[in-house]
Amino acid sequence: MITLKDISKVYKNGPLEVEALSKISLQVNRGEFVAIMGTSGSGKSTLMNIIGCLDVPTTGSYILDGEEVHTLNEDDLARVRNRKIGFVFQSFNLLGRQTVLQNVTLPMMYAGIPREKRQTRALELLEKVGLKERVKHRPTELSGGQKQRVAIARALTMEAPILLADEPTGNLDTKSSHEIMALFKEIHREGTTIVLVTHEPDIAEHADRVLLFGDGKLLKDTRKGSDRA
Ligand code: ADP
Ligand code: ADP
Repeated sequence: MITLKDISKVYKNGPLEVEALSKISLQVNRGEFVAIMGTSGSGKSTLMNIIGCLDVPTTGSYILDGEEVHTLNEDDLARVRNRKIGFVFQSFNLLGRQTVLQNVTLPMMYAGIPREKRQTRALELLEKVGLKERVKHRPTELSGGQKQRVAIARALTMEAPILLADEPTGNLDTKSSHEIMALFKEIHREGTTIVLVTHEPDIAEHADRVLLFGDGKLLKDTRKGSDRA
């Protein structure tokens, strides 16, 4: 699903150069649930930006679901991103003036899906994440865990095969964090490939595979037995 080969990323600011990623090669298969860990500055965000088609590597190749993406221009990259990737962020990134329902229907509106179909699909997803009673509320009226559920419903609207989550539990208390992870597990069981960044070992525990980054390099790649609940 995701094949990275010798990916390097160099940020240039005038004469200063930072190599944020150094020759990363890795493969994430369809249906995997992967956690990315590493200290601050180890290259996690840079890697997520490349996997999510928000940025391109300086060198190396990236094949996403059979498509070569490292050579694409911005328009084509955006097109691939919209079809293939759902995003969930630490700070939820919901629109405060819009209702829960509107937040979830928005990506479908941009995609030109007819109104009735948008509504039906959004309500289905909000029921799935346990927020059916909250569709008319605004994000400020929700707890952190509830906001993240809205963001997850929104990320699922386009049925993207990959869900990328950057510190999705970073702003949540322990109980909400584990509820959110239970939801990710359910989404994973239904076939979505998930790549998630976290600082917390307890959260990474929920994934089937943990990639540990340090100083722009992949230090450790640990797979768990498939017998885990
Ligand atoms: P992490 O997400 O693990 O904290 P990042 O991918 O954000 O790590 O950063 C990796 C390295 O790249 C760090 O040294 C960081 O300072 C540097 N970096 C990240 N973004 C930029 C940028 N836009 N310009 C210059 N350096 C950057
Ligand atoms: P948490 O302890 O998970 O952060 P909160 O204490 O923020 O939860 O909220 C508890 C409940 O009250 C939640 O169901 C939330 O949706 C609701 N709630 C919180 N703030 C508001 C508000 N301003 N208006 C309506 N409902 C609210």
